[in-house]
Amino acid sequence: AKPIVAIVGRPNVGKSTLFNVLANERISIVEDIPGVTRDRLYATTEWLDREFVIIDTGGIEIANTDKIAVSIREQAQIAIREADVILFVCDARTGITDEDAEVAKLLRKSRKPIVLAVNKADSFKQEMEIFEFYNLGLGEPIPISAANHLGLGDMLDSVMDKV
Ligand code: GDP
Ligand code: MG
Repeated sequence: AKPIVAIVGRPNVGKSTLFNVLANERISIVEDIPGVTRDRLYATTEWLDREFVIIDTGGIEIANTDKIAVSIREQAQIAIREADVILFVCDARTGITDEDAEVAKLLRKSRKPIVLAVNKADSFKQEMEIFEFYNLGLGEPIPISAANHLGLGDMLDSVMDKV
């Protein structure tokens, strides 16, 4: 089976932007994962001739809640359960938030391999600001700019190393 890579993170960090860049119009119905019904959240993509499935967990609707904190937590739990690798996305512009720290804690407790991507690193100055993300305890933060297609090769190398 193709490895499953789940994109996790609080709202507005750029998960869907990243998903769309990686999916590159190949969004399709690929897997039948319990608890998840929204097919457009899945895409098959490839990097260096290896195919994998990506999930945009931000779009997973959680029943019976309109609390953002609850739905981020539930989305992270689904990702932990279903994914082979978790791609945790943060925002270089805001720095680490309480919600980031909470998700990081859940992810650290899981046994899943994690790649930490710090998005919106559009310029060298913002790239320098990613170092604080070492404090999440998830290893090396990788600066990316989903909007400008920067850093995605290094990020995908790191994902594939952990599959
Ligand atoms: P999501 O809620 O995590 O899915 O985030 P979205 O993909 O919807 O993006 C939230 C906002 O961040 C949108 O206004 C995007 O245009 C913006 N955004 C996404 N990626 C980047 C980036 O690399 N740089 C900048 N400056 N903005 C970005
Ligand atoms: Mg989204």
